Amino acid sequence: MRITPVATDYDEVRSDVKESQDRSLEALQSANAPDARSVVSELDQADALDEGMTPGGEIVNEELIVQVIPQAADEFTCFSCFLVRHRSQLAKEKDGHKYCIECEG
Ligand SMILES: [Zn+2]
Repeated sequence: MRITPVATDYDEVRSDVKESQDRSLEALQSANAPDARSVVSELDQADALDEGMTPGGEIVNEELIVQVIPQAADEFTCFSCFLVRHRSQLAKEKDGHKYCIECEG
């Protein structure tokens, strides 16, 4: 009796067991996939709602609004990027043209 064939058999059994485990795991994953996706989707929606409530989201919205509404007294249009900026973002004024800190910074 040699051990080698037995060891090979064990390896085959192990690989078979591992494969069946992988298959069952895949089956579980694919079976759970719809639920997992819906959970992820719900999480994404929750994140989106959270982001909309964070200061960062508000800043983005303000920037979008600033670009749409007419230029206010405390705003200027950057002569380089042509975006309406708040006066606090004015970095340089040359020959009557104003430049924002992002273009001059
Ligand atoms: Zn600019």
